[in-house]
Amino acid sequence: MEEITTAAAMSRFKRVCVFCGSSSGKRNSYQDAAIELGKELVARKVDLVYGGGSVGLMGMVSEAVHSGGGHVIGIIPKTLMSKEITGETFGEVKPVASMHQRKAEMARHSDAFIALPGGYGTLEELLEVITWAQLGIHNKPVGLLNVDGYYNSLLAFVDKAVEDGFIQPFQRYLFVSAPNAKELVQKLEEYVPVEDAVVAKLSWEMEQVGLNSTLQVEIAR
Ligand code: AMP
Repeated sequence: MEEITTAAAMSRFKRVCVFCGSSSGKRNSYQDAAIELGKELVARKVDLVYGGGSVGLMGMVSEAVHSGGGHVIGIIPKTLMSKEITGETFGEVKPVASMHQRKAEMARHSDAFIALPGGYGTLEELLEVITWAQLGIHNKPVGLLNVDGYYNSLLAFVDKAVEDGFIQPFQRYLFVSAPNAKELVQKLEEYVPVEDAVVAKLSWEMEQVGLNSTLQVEIAR
């Protein structure tokens, strides 16, 4: 029994990046999912990387990880600190100069990405990392925590884009999704990158993503 518990607690990830709303959402299930995800990361001894705010689901997931004894790294642009840190923050806070740097740093520090429900900001971050996966800039898994079907319309959009020839069929499966944290993290652990999806390790021009070449290599790690 003890062996099973130990095995269940092991993870191939050292750190997971969570994108989520700076609001809490109107359903209790969203807030419950943020806390459940935090606990799942703690159970697997995985550190949390997130946007550094104390507000909304960001605050809830970071508090859940921190209070469970896990390590939290929050990465936040200096200009957003007064807006997104209105209460106690948990763990390490890394101020950065810009939104681009925030995303690059979040990606660099993480072995996988998970999106909880959220708004424009969450979608923007999520779509950027899935685009990077499509282009082969990294092959880290990207998961949707599809609480109460929150991301069904996004998945339906992807299906439509595949059907109409804008996303290649094998790239449909770059998104891993599950209705609860336990199932999602397990699927991410088992995820095998589609080799064909890795078109090339593209050498981006600095201005395209605002990264320097060292950072590009680090994101891909
Ligand atoms: P939202 O889902 O709109 O509540 O936003 C969630 C988080 O995404 C907030 O911390 C936003 O500051 C952040 N965010 C929004 N746009 C960007 C961006 N372009 N790069 C990095 N973070 C962003």
